[in-house]
Amino acid sequence: LDDLGFTLIHEHLLFQFNPVFRQKAIDFVRTELLKYYNYGGRTLVDLTPFRHIDWYTEIAAGLAVNIVCCTGYYLKDWIPEPDLVLPQETLTARMCAEITDGIVGSAVRAGIIKVAADNVDLDPWERKVFCAAAKAQQRTGTPIATHACRGARDQQRVLLDAGADPAGIFFSHVEAEFGWEGRNVREEAKYLGEIVARGSRLLFNNFGFDFDTSLENLVFLIKALSDQGYQDQILISIDMNFQIDASGKIILEAADRHPECAERVYSYVFDAVIPVLEREGFSGSEIRRFFIDNPADFFRFK
Ligand SMILES: [Zn+2]
Repeated sequence: LDDLGFTLIHEHLLFQFNPVFRQKAIDFVRTELLKYYNYGGRTLVDLTPFRHIDWYTEIAAGLAVNIVCCTGYYLKDWIPEPDLVLPQETLTARMCAEITDGIVGSAVRAGIIKVAADNVDLDPWERKVFCAAAKAQQRTGTPIATHACRGARDQQRVLLDAGADPAGIFFSHVEAEFGWEGRNVREEAKYLGEIVARGSRLLFNNFGFDFDTSLENLVFLIKALSDQGYQDQILISIDMNFQIDASGKIILEAADRHPECAERVYSYVFDAVIPVLEREGFSGSEIRRFFIDNPADFFRFK
């Protein structure tokens, strides 16, 4: 982890594991990873905690790009029923085992903990899994990434109360306007400012998702946090994920309703995001910070 280079810190190799389309999915991701590498991408962090690790080792075979896998739990609807009643300590032990011993069925060790919540105030399952993640971080020194379209403040409170290091946490999708609870963009900048003031980091990925966050508001938030002195705590990624429909067609997230989203593959960061940041006045060194220095600092948080 000393030399991550250019990093996309919130991505997905796969988000769907339909055996019928296994080869098609693997071939597509390999092609996109190679494209990303040829543009200068060096590291990609996968935040799908329910992955099939044998599909992943097949994807990674022979590729030069570094792939960091995660442990943890996605949203409650995705959790197998029996797991929902497991005690917190069992969840922590599972995470620690995947970090120190490897993900079952492989020698791949997880390098990051992913947890997800969808409530402004965490529900009992979400609280349990966030506390479990905080304990796993304490034991292993592994950083945490969360899904936080809404409720980042309560997520941070629960994680810190359970002993997590604020610098070893980033909250994802915080710019999604449907999660602002009625705050306007200035109020949202203030809300997010309070989270970074406590030392945590924020992940923005809605470039090309204008229907969830207008580019104007997205840039406003990043600049507002930068102006307050928190540029080192800003992370940017694409969050590429796709489904394959019954006919075998690959559909990038939201591309069924917004055809332009079909362009949002890993290399979209080079084709579209960086040109937009440049046009909006961010300097080369600021852009390097978002994709090289800040990801490296995050993994070295302790
Ligand atoms: Zn994601």
